[in-house]
Amino acid sequence: MVTGASSGIGAASARALAAGGWHVVLGARRVNRLEALAAELGAEAATASPLDVTDPSSVEDFSRLVPACRLVVHCAGGALGLDPIAEAEESRWRVMFDTNVLGVLRVTRALLAALLRSGDGQVVLVGSVAAFEPYAGGAGYNAAKAAASSLADVLRIEHVGKPLRVSEIDPGMVDTEFSLVRFAGDAERAAATYRGMTPLSAGDVAEVVAFVASRPAHVDLDRIVMRPRDQARVWLVHRDP
Ligand code: NAP
Repeated sequence: MVTGASSGIGAASARALAAGGWHVVLGARRVNRLEALAAELGAEAATASPLDVTDPSSVEDFSRLVPACRLVVHCAGGALGLDPIAEAEESRWRVMFDTNVLGVLRVTRALLAALLRSGDGQVVLVGSVAAFEPYAGGAGYNAAKAAASSLADVLRIEHVGKPLRVSEIDPGMVDTEFSLVRFAGDAERAAATYRGMTPLSAGDVAEVVAFVASRPAHVDLDRIVMRPRDQARVWLVHRDP
């Protein structure tokens, strides 16, 4: 099961997993995009299903789609705005927490029994360097990704001795629709994020997702941090003039 499969890292992860022989269930709100991706991958490799991770009944419907589940890849998420704390809008924080934190909780909880039943369940969280490198304007997103990271860690602790692996992949800048969403559709501002530097591509992250998912059952890759060469810290980016 891949959440956030309609775009960016989720769509690329679905492609990489399908290429590796998985049958992938694609979840997100924009169903037309999921259906196009499922058609591209073929009926043997993919099924599209509507999923809103902020809606418990949608998560329940999504989790009931399959009798068996070996892997869940959490990609649904994102940031809203770059507001300093003094001007923080609670509504944006709520969406960020509902999607990046509670969404991960809801989907994980709904699939947990099936993952354990599989005998080798795996949860892969696409987190962010924002979880441990806070930056001005990032507080809501930083806090949400830090919370999701704690959730992943506790999930691993609570299931030691059981057939469940939990991995967190924390990317730096990746060229997806992330910045377009963060800046409410302002394409110029989103493009400026990556100007003069080479970000990671969604495919770069997807390769790591597929690698993590193809390790033998006794190998748990806890946490992987990956960045573009041009980005040493969230706030330290080399840009060509
Ligand atoms: P993206 O292209 O904007 O993709 C975000 C995905 O999340 C979309 O498929 C979107 O689908 C889905 N989504 C958002 N809200 C949802 C909801 N309520 N229910 C279900 N799906 C929802 O951005 P991306 O870069 O691939 O982001 C994937 C993950 O990587 C996010 O968690 C993001 O925080 C993280 N990340 C991104 C970067 C970066 O620089 N791009 C860096 C580090 C971490 P719908 O809108 O169709 O529902």
